[in-house]
Amino acid sequence: MRQVISAVCISCGAEYEATPTITTCRKCGGILDIKYDYGYIRQVLTKDKIASREQTMWRYRELLPAEGEDRVRRLRVGWSPLYETPLLAESIGIKRLHIKDDGINPTASLKDRASVMAVVKAAEAGLRTIACSSTGNAASSLAGSCAAADFESYIFVPQRAPEGKLAQLMMFGAHVFLVEGNYEDTFRISAEGIEKYGWYNRNAAINPYLVEGKKTVSMEIAEQLGYEMPDYIAVSVGDGCTISGVWKGLKDLYAIGFINRLPKLISVQAQGCCPVNRAVEENAPVRPMEENTIADSIAVGAPRNPDKAIRAIKESGGIVINVSDEEIMQAMRLLGRTCGVFAEPAGAAGTAGLKKAVEMKRILPGATVVSLVTGNGLKDVANAIRAAGKPKAITPDMECLDRALKEVRI
Ligand SMILES: *Cc1c(COP(=O)(O)O)cnc(C)c1O
Ligand SMILES: [Zn+2]
Repeated sequence: MRQVISAVCISCGAEYEATPTITTCRKCGGILDIKYDYGYIRQVLTKDKIASREQTMWRYRELLPAEGEDRVRRLRVGWSPLYETPLLAESIGIKRLHIKDDGINPTASLKDRASVMAVVKAAEAGLRTIACSSTGNAASSLAGSCAAADFESYIFVPQRAPEGKLAQLMMFGAHVFLVEGNYEDTFRISAEGIEKYGWYNRNAAINPYLVEGKKTVSMEIAEQLGYEMPDYIAVSVGDGCTISGVWKGLKDLYAIGFINRLPKLISVQAQGCCPVNRAVEENAPVRPMEENTIADSIAVGAPRNPDKAIRAIKESGGIVINVSDEEIMQAMRLLGRTCGVFAEPAGAAGTAGLKKAVEMKRILPGATVVSLVTGNGLKDVANAIRAAGKPKAITPDMECLDRALKEVRI
């Protein structure tokens, strides 16, 4: 891998060889960040070269820390649509808005970008068994990618994971353990299992390659906008890997001269669970919080990657917004009705945060924004029905239909 120089600790700066199984800093326990040789990448990569390639995240292979991805059977991940949404922009009150719908990925969330990277890195390490703990999407996504590659997966999920995500796990043939406890407990027992049995580790923040997979989402946004960047990108935040990935992708493109300006990040968390945003607002270290929201994918009381995420938010000059479950459900309806995009609660949280930021006048009407939809609504049907309601029942006769039609409000 000529493009990768090393893995650097973001806390103490120690540098390590970027081996496939590297995890956290051996000196201080800090999170590692993959460092690239941008001079080399500039020489070998052009926008035209990217444009001519397969429509998956691997079109950016010179900017990815992997080799031999073609030797693993992979799901088709990435190159999700970026929709311009004038109706939603008008409804929210900004000039221009695009929705990046990552719910169309093979297992219906952005997590596929990280999971397929984990499978490729495990294969490089000669391992065929991967484990993770997850609030749901990382798990279902890993299970799908492992099934495609003929790998085994060991999955630890907290009890409150929505049924759609559990169904995916079972369907993909993962070994699933439903842990009696919260995400923190789930994470701990998975780490102990990984240590004991030597499985490849697909845990957020521990594995520095996951962010590198996730960063392809902002590279796609850039390419789909003809490398003309918006003022803001709105992202929902749980562990903090997604927003770190979005920022890394942008900085990579900036470093090789493909974009000439960096958007500001809008970090959106749930009011009932916002430890990362609170740390940014108070300019203080992250303290754990309760996990009190319907948005299960971002209900992370003790985030794993707060340092990278907070650094990303601050470096970008970004803003932090917390949204209520009510505001999330309203954004779910808005996305559905104005864009035809069906988001799970965490998937709609970014849009909810954008709407609120505009209402609070923290974002001005002239702004251009991309809002990331990170997961599909079919994963959590119970909350979708809670947000959108149930259909009207009729008896199959015209009188009843006539009566029902009079009640329909347009
Ligand atoms: C995981 C996830 C997020 C947040 O990503 P983090 O890396 O945990 O911050 C947001 N939305 C959905 C749908 C997710 O699955
Ligand atoms: Zn360190």
